[in-house]
Amino acid sequence: MNEEKELRERSAPIELTPDAFRALGHRLVDEIADFLASLADRPVTPTDPPQAVWAAVGERNLPETGQPPGVLLDRAARLLFQHSLLNGHPRFWGYIIGAPAPIGALADCLAAAVNPNCGGWDLAPIASAIEAQTVRWIAQLVGYPEDTGGLLVSGGNMANFIGFLAARRAKAPWDVRQKGMNAPGAPPLRVYASPETHTWIQKAADLFGLGTDAIRQVPTDAAHRMDPAALNRRIQEDRKAGTCPFLVVGTAGTVSTGAVDPLPELAAVCQEHDLWFHVDGAYGAPAACAPEAPADLAGLALADSVAIDPHKWLYVPVEAGCVLVKHPDALRDTFSYRPPYYHLDPDEAVIHYYEHGPQNSRGFRALKVWLALQQAGREGYRRMIQEDMRLARALYRLADAHPELEACTHNLSITTFRFVPADLEVGTPRVEAYLNTLNEAILDRVKRSGAAYISNAVLAKRFVLRACVVNFRTTLGDLEALVALVVRLGRELDAALRPAAL
Ligand SMILES: *Cc1c(COP(=O)(O)O)cnc(C)c1O
Repeated sequence: MNEEKELRERSAPIELTPDAFRALGHRLVDEIADFLASLADRPVTPTDPPQAVWAAVGERNLPETGQPPGVLLDRAARLLFQHSLLNGHPRFWGYIIGAPAPIGALADCLAAAVNPNCGGWDLAPIASAIEAQTVRWIAQLVGYPEDTGGLLVSGGNMANFIGFLAARRAKAPWDVRQKGMNAPGAPPLRVYASPETHTWIQKAADLFGLGTDAIRQVPTDAAHRMDPAALNRRIQEDRKAGTCPFLVVGTAGTVSTGAVDPLPELAAVCQEHDLWFHVDGAYGAPAACAPEAPADLAGLALADSVAIDPHKWLYVPVEAGCVLVKHPDALRDTFSYRPPYYHLDPDEAVIHYYEHGPQNSRGFRALKVWLALQQAGREGYRRMIQEDMRLARALYRLADAHPELEACTHNLSITTFRFVPADLEVGTPRVEAYLNTLNEAILDRVKRSGAAYISNAVLAKRFVLRACVVNFRTTLGDLEALVALVVRLGRELDAALRPAAL
């Protein structure tokens, strides 16, 4: 009896009444708004040692009984505000992480509240249509054919994996989906990429059964761009040796220096040899919308597939990656299975995204991208991206003009430079080794200062400081402050380190 009553008048401990949700939500939004208002005054990254972070999390055991949601949300907000690296801070330029547009935070809340499962149209009709529109808009923004296939994924790695798998399925001369990589008589597949390619390529070759030896590294020129003539030669050699070239990976914006491969020339080589041309534009593809972008970005349109990360230069919160695939059937050909337990709408007018990629259940990642694209519009993105590139160029010029800084590279919105004491003769191995040590120490101190955040690159064995501006909050003054900080720390550290080192 008692049990029946409980089941009839069920009260779930996870439920929030609409009134409670409203009160908690308003309060949380207020806290977030205060946090956003205070971003610039906070340290870019906390300096707590790992033990302090573990201690702040506390309690090792799963709580036995429930706790009031308001207390939990307050505590969670405090923990996150105090112990996080703030990539929305105007002085964050580390790695390649976009400052997140606030509308993206609201979008994620809305998406989670409605919770469409974007695996199938029936489960998410409007969300699936919005995702398709988002893919089309991203294609339009970067100058890719708009009636293209594609979908949103977790990030650049996944987007690149999907291009890789579509290429393997389209170009392997046997049924790779059914026979796998051990098909009798199947020649070894070969993929071509420059040494500047992001490590997703190793993961892909490894995970998808080719092995990393299948990656042919094609040399680059002095500007870190793939050499098309060398590519052509390697393909011919490999064909002669009985292996099977299937894929060329160009990069539009390398991780280290933002270099853009000569995409039109690579596309021509692919055309000549009937290979799939994939472009990793995870970082740099959005720059194609800006008039000052490198002309080679026009070659994006020639690729069979392109990876783009909205969570980088489209400024949406993680996670959001996107892959565009020119042939509209290529993704279904690569991923589709139709199990008997899915009785989904067979209408041509619908898209079941579980057939287009590796995921089955899928969140509504597109919403934040869709909203951000509309809030700023093409014109807004063009301006933000162009200003990021101009700021990176301004940083290069500041470094170049400073007697104690050596400006190294500037491409897209990445600038590399290093501190070189004015009285030091560069070039000898001893001095170069010292400069590496010195600049490593400077990087460490910059990060720990909380005043700015940058990362590094290694260019021809030189350890250089690297700032990547994918941050709509950065101003010229912020970069002038970075230069002053690096010079001050450089002088201090040089005084402390040089006597022992040289
Ligand atoms: C960031 C990046 C990746 C990886 O993307 P994630 O979103 O981190 O998975 C791949 N390639 C390039 C060029 C990148 O900049």
